[in-house]
Amino acid sequence: MKAEVVQQRSLLELTELDAELSRIAHRSAHLSEQQRYEEIQAEHHAANDRLAALRIALEDLDAQVSRFESEIDAVRQREDRDRLLLDSATTNAKQLSELQHELETLQRRQSSLEDSLLEVMERREELQGRRAGESATIDRLQSDLANAQQARDDALAELDQTRHQRNSRRDELTVELNPELVALYERQRAAGGAGAGLLQGRRCGACRIEIDRGELARISAAADDEVLRCPECGAILLRGRDPGQ
Ligand SMILES: [Zn+2]
Repeated sequence: MKAEVVQQRSLLELTELDAELSRIAHRSAHLSEQQRYEEIQAEHHAANDRLAALRIALEDLDAQVSRFESEIDAVRQREDRDRLLLDSATTNAKQLSELQHELETLQRRQSSLEDSLLEVMERREELQGRRAGESATIDRLQSDLANAQQARDDALAELDQTRHQRNSRRDELTVELNPELVALYERQRAAGGAGAGLLQGRRCGACRIEIDRGELARISAAADDEVLRCPECGAILLRGRDPGQ
C-alpha cells in the first residue's frame, strides 16, 4: 500500500491521540479522587454502624437504670413502712425482732442495688462520651465526603473535556485520511496493540522491539510513500521527518 508522506504524518498524530485517549480512559477508570471518595464513604458507613450500635447499647443501659431506680424505690418504701411499724405502740416484741431483721436485709439489698445502679450509670456515661465522639466524626466525614465528591466530579469533568477535544481532533484527522490506511490502522489496533508506531532508531514505536539490520535496510530503501509494517508487531511503521532518524 502507498500513502502520501503527509497522510503518514497525520497517522502519527492519530497514534499519539489514541495513546492519549487510552491514558485518559485508564485514568478515568483508576481515578485517585474516586478511590479517596470510596475510602471516606467506607469510613462514614463504619462510623454510622458504630453510632447505631452505641444507640442500642445506650437504650439498654437506660432501661437498666430505670429498672434499678424502681427497685430501689420499692425497697425504700418497704423500709419506710417497717420503720413506721417499729415505732407503732401495737407492735409486739416478736414482731419487733422480725421487723429489725427485715430492715437489715432491706438495707443490704438497697446498698447492693445502689452499687449496681452506679456501675450502670458510669458505663452509660462512658458510652454517651463515645456517642458524642462518633457524632462529631460523622459530621467531619460528611464534610470530607462532600469535598471528595466535588474533587472527583471536577477531575472527571476535566478528563471528559480533554477526551471530547481529542475525539473531535481525531474525527477531523480520520476524515482527511485515506480510508484504506485508516482501516489498516484500525485492524491493527483491534488486534490489541498500537495501530502505528514511529520508527525510533532501530526500534518500533508500537512494540518497542528492535528491528534487525536486514529489515532495516529494506525499510531505509523503501520509497517515502510506501506504507511499511513492523515485522514484529505488524503496526504501520512511520518514519520521522528526518529519514536518518
Ligand atoms: Zn512493532
